[in-house]
Amino acid sequence: MNIILFGPPGAGKGTQAKYLVKKINGFQISTGEILRDEIRKDSEIGKIIINDMSDGKFVSDEIVNKLIKTLVFDPQKKNKLIFDGYPRSINQAKNLNLLLDESNQKIDCIFFLNVNKETIIKRIEKRKIIEKRLDDELNTILKRYDTYMETTRPVLDFYSKKPNFHEIDGTLEIDEITRKIDTFINV
Ligand code: AMP
Repeated sequence: MNIILFGPPGAGKGTQAKYLVKKINGFQISTGEILRDEIRKDSEIGKIIINDMSDGKFVSDEIVNKLIKTLVFDPQKKNKLIFDGYPRSINQAKNLNLLLDESNQKIDCIFFLNVNKETIIKRIEKRKIIEKRLDDELNTILKRYDTYMETTRPVLDFYSKKPNFHEIDGTLEIDEITRKIDTFINV
């Protein structure tokens, strides 16, 4: 089973992805984590992306799509992919479709965690204290939210008409969201 978790930054995608990893014995594909890792390693990619990322801007589709390709084609991860923070643009959504077709896979469930801006700001401010993420300053949060509305939100149209698309109120408590997700997962 392959799953996409979709929603603005701070919607709780990561939390639910971690739950799903256990539930379906899957692999969390968090592009944010993968990119932060490149920065931590100070790799070639890390050096290219550090400024954009700490500014709340998107990393180029070219870099992200390349990183994703290896994971989608990894036989160990086949049909156990849990996308958290990808796709984030129409270009990425189209790329994912191609990669899935080529590797004989499909998306089984798309969960849209819908959260308003005020809740996001409160949550990310809290996360800033706990996780000390370099992109969690208020200005950066607002920039990331605007980027989401401009670039990522249109991806909803790409998926929302599909029968396996499920919108969930992301302002609910974590357990309640998990329970709702659970009703669509048959394992
Ligand atoms: P996240 O941890 O998902 O909130 O992502 C943190 C940051 O990583 C984003 O604000 C972007 O700068 C970058 N990022 C993560 N995923 C993507 C993606 N799919 N496309 C472009 N940039 C991304």
